[in-house]
Amino acid sequence: MQKTIKNNVKIVGKGVHLGKPVTLNIKPAPANFGIVFKRLDVDSNNPLVEANFKNILSGELCTSLINGDGISVKTVEHLLAAFSGLGISNALVEIDNEEIPILDGSSIKFVESLIKAGICKQDEPLNFCSVKKAVKVVSKKGWVKFEPADNFILTVFIDYPNTCIGKQNFSLMISKDSFQRELCDNRTFCLRDDIQNMRSRGFALGGTLDNAVVVDGYSVINPTGLRRKDEFVRHKMLDALGDLALSGLPLLGHYVSYCAGHQLNNQLLIKLFSNHSNYEILVPNNLNSDKFVDRSFCLSSQNYRAVI
Ligand SMILES: [Zn+2]
Repeated sequence: MQKTIKNNVKIVGKGVHLGKPVTLNIKPAPANFGIVFKRLDVDSNNPLVEANFKNILSGELCTSLINGDGISVKTVEHLLAAFSGLGISNALVEIDNEEIPILDGSSIKFVESLIKAGICKQDEPLNFCSVKKAVKVVSKKGWVKFEPADNFILTVFIDYPNTCIGKQNFSLMISKDSFQRELCDNRTFCLRDDIQNMRSRGFALGGTLDNAVVVDGYSVINPTGLRRKDEFVRHKMLDALGDLALSGLPLLGHYVSYCAGHQLNNQLLIKLFSNHSNYEILVPNNLNSDKFVDRSFCLSSQNYRAVI
């Protein structure tokens, strides 16, 4: 079944790119509402921005959304990864500035706050989107692709030569448990050599060693070091999970990426949904089965029937 939160969640922080203070009020929402942002600081008749691939604002270094009236929300990926990983389908996210707070650079504080608020099942079934055909997007630096699969599996390869990151890869079948255990606390990172360039272009203005891992050649500058040796590739997977949440439905498919980022992830979703033969929407066969509900996020597609 679809899920929302039981109680309101308040989160205060600052945006990593714009560096501005921001407060989020995350509220329960009815079934079929989706994840929707509401800008409280803009004078607009249309302050709502739905977390959907149709609202992607093309950009680099983060994923941003924009509605038809030009109202935008930036750096949504870590919060969306938390909703997706916890299986929360519906919530209203009120925000009093333009960018989601970075907190510690991972999703862990969102996850802890949402769990503390309580997560509850709603009275509407949860549909899934099943990838039916392989879809791939290639850039000069890397590629991303989807392949059909009976579960939601992510596989990520990265390669940062001449740094302590080097070549890393990680593969995970996404469930509420695996997300919390393996993925949600991995922090964002950057190379020290890139900081000046990013800041000159208006990015990373709120970045500090408290919200990002900074790599200088073969060293990590942060005094506390890494949370895991492969924290880098796991963070890339966390980003991908957040970006793919813009599908609006939980996915059944195998996502694979090589040296990719938000832009390729965004383009992959747009390409997937550009042709109806690439995917199908699935609904549960037996909505009254307790077994079905309890296993919600990791079911084989054999338990679903195609409706579209
Ligand atoms: Zn990230």
